Amino acid sequence: MAIVWIDGEWRSREDARISVYDHGLLYGDGLFEGLRWYSGRIFRLDAHLDRLWDGARAIALSLPYTRDEMAATLREGVERAAKPDGYIRLVVTRGVGDLGISPALCPRPTVLSIFDDIRLYPRECYERGIAVVTASSRRLQGDVFDPRIKSLNYLNNVLAKLEAQVAGCMEAVFLNREGYVTECTGDNVFIVKNGVLKTPAVWLGLLEGITRNSILEIARGSFKRVEETTMTKFDLYTADECFLTGSGAEVIPVTKIDGRAIGTGEPGPMTEGLRAEFARAVRQG
Ligand code: PMP
Repeated sequence: MAIVWIDGEWRSREDARISVYDHGLLYGDGLFEGLRWYSGRIFRLDAHLDRLWDGARAIALSLPYTRDEMAATLREGVERAAKPDGYIRLVVTRGVGDLGISPALCPRPTVLSIFDDIRLYPRECYERGIAVVTASSRRLQGDVFDPRIKSLNYLNNVLAKLEAQVAGCMEAVFLNREGYVTECTGDNVFIVKNGVLKTPAVWLGLLEGITRNSILEIARGSFKRVEETTMTKFDLYTADECFLTGSGAEVIPVTKIDGRAIGTGEPGPMTEGLRAEFARAVRQG
C-alpha cells in the first residue's frame, strides 16, 4: 500500500492532499526525483539528493530541510512501506502562494514523498525489447530551459510520449534542435556499435540520469570503449544494439526504431550483460 509524507505528516494515498494554490500545480514550479529501493536500501540516494539540490540552486529555491533530514525521511518511508523493493517519488514545489507566477508569493516550499511501486513497461518487454520512434518535437534546448533540471514541467516529454503512442510505440527519442539524439521522454538512451558503448553527452541537452551514470560506471569495466558523444538518427538505425535506462524503466532493450530493426531485431548480448550486472549492482547498493 502506498504511503505519503507531506512536510512532516504521514498519510495514506487517499488522505494525501495539497493546496490548489500550490505553485507546483499552478505553474509547474518545482522539481522531482524518482528513486528506487532494492532489498530495503535506496539506490544511489546521494546522487539523487545531489541532483535535487543542484536543481534547487538552478531555480533559486531554498530547500527547507537539510540533506540529512531528507535522507532520514526517505529511509523512514522505506521502513514504513515494509516491503523489500519499491519506488519513491520525491517532489519539491515552490509552495503555496497567491495567484501570479512570482516565487516571492510562496513563503515556503512544499516537500512530499510518495512511497509506492512503478511499472513503466510490461515485464515481457524486458525480454523482447520495445519499439520506439523519434519524436517530431525537439527536446528543450539548454539555453531556453535546461533539461538537467528535473522540473515539474514535463509537457515537452508528455507530448512526445503521445507521439510515441500514436505511432503504436511505448517511447520516443528526442533529437535536439541540431538533430543530435538527446534522450527519451523518461529514459536515457544508449547504443552499442562494434563493441563500443555510446550515449549522448549531457551538454547536448538531456537529464544526467542516475541509471545512465551507473551503467557508464559498470561498462567502463567491461567494454573496450565507452563514449559520451554526439549521435544522429543514422547512428540509432545502424546500431548493433540499443537500450534505455531510468530509475523507473531500469534497463530495457530497444529492438526497433522508426520501423527499422536494430541489429538482429532481438535484445543484444551486451545489453543483456549490462542488464544482469545492473540487477546485481542495485542489490549491492
Ligand atoms: N531522462 C528523463 C527525461 C527522465 O525523466 C528520466 C527519469 N525518469 C531519465 C532520463 C532517467 O534518469 P534516472 O536514471 O536518474 O531515473
